Amino acid sequence: MATVKFEKAQRWYPGADEPAVPGIDLEINDGEFMVLVGPSGCGKSTTLRMLAGLEEVNSGRIFIDDREVTYVPPKDRDIAMVFQNYALYPHMSVADNMAFALKMAKVPEEKRRERVNEAAAMLGLTEFLDRKPKALSGGQRQRVAMGRAIVRNPQVFCMDEPLSNLDAKMRVQTRTDIAKLQSELGVTTCYVTHDQVEAMTMGDRVAVMKLGVLQQVDTPLKLYDKPQNLFVAGFIGSPQMNLMEGVADNGEVKIGGYHVPVDETAEKKMNGKVTVGVRPENWRIVSDGEGGLPVQVTVVEELGADSYVYGTCDVEGTPADVIIRASGRSHPHRGDTLYVTTDPHHVHVFDTESGERLSD
Ligand code: ADP
Repeated sequence: MATVKFEKAQRWYPGADEPAVPGIDLEINDGEFMVLVGPSGCGKSTTLRMLAGLEEVNSGRIFIDDREVTYVPPKDRDIAMVFQNYALYPHMSVADNMAFALKMAKVPEEKRRERVNEAAAMLGLTEFLDRKPKALSGGQRQRVAMGRAIVRNPQVFCMDEPLSNLDAKMRVQTRTDIAKLQSELGVTTCYVTHDQVEAMTMGDRVAVMKLGVLQQVDTPLKLYDKPQNLFVAGFIGSPQMNLMEGVADNGEVKIGGYHVPVDETAEKKMNGKVTVGVRPENWRIVSDGEGGLPVQVTVVEELGADSYVYGTCDVEGTPADVIIRASGRSHPHRGDTLYVTTDPHHVHVFDTESGERLSD
């Protein structure tokens, strides 16, 4: 087991106008499941590949425990990588695929078999050991790829979008399997995904990236409850947090005639253009006359347990979208006008220009 530390690690691809990752500082604790998440092209894979030694580091340093590995070849880093496309050898059986790296490392055959059998049992692959990859489902192939990583008993797992090629149902199941396995094995893991739900459900901590730069590194709940900037607020959570622009005046802000309640911290810090954020589940539907935000309902999604009400409100003459989570059984309907309010501790306030969080 091991810790991982990036110290201002930079990757500047030859010929590019600017670095893909200008200089990342990130520490992963021993045994921790760290997820790197962000939109496509934000530098997640580049960061992971720098750790795995598959991408050159142009400046800065990377450590595994106290050992600097910045210039250590990939095979000597004691890292196992799991890729999106599984990267299995098609002509080899499952058992041979899993044992391949051990064979290269000259591990004796008996020991190899023992480790493969152990990993196969852990992954529910025992009955498939003699099959070729093409005779397996996508989920099973991904488990073989995991098995290949496990048998090496590495200090660190690096996983690059390992679930992307699976269908939705398989993805949900496999994500639980991987998270469970990682926690049983306790191997420090760095996992890349563009899917924020995957990040939130799997990570001990999640590192949100944008344009090569870390925005916030926190536990899933902390990211959800206290996004440190507008980008994180909009990226984490599905459906998205409602974000509405207004102008603060004397510690107060009104959106579409609704006097938004904000906490004391925001009250003191707000100045000029602010963006107010409320999660869909934090609206309360009230009756007309209670001073709520008027919303015209355009679409209602019924999900059984809940429903999501999509509508628009009028912000200084411009329609703004609003999403409200309501009960699955008694909820408003298309064409209704409803009124919603919320509480100060559910209101996230950001400076519109800098994106910085202003509420507590
Ligand atoms: P992500 O994994 O978040 O989708 P990447 O790390 O793959 O992002 O890419 C980050 C940026 O670096 C992107 O702008 C991408 O186009 C660029 N990039 C990635 N790989 C290369 C490469 N081999 N050569 C040049 N540019 C690259």
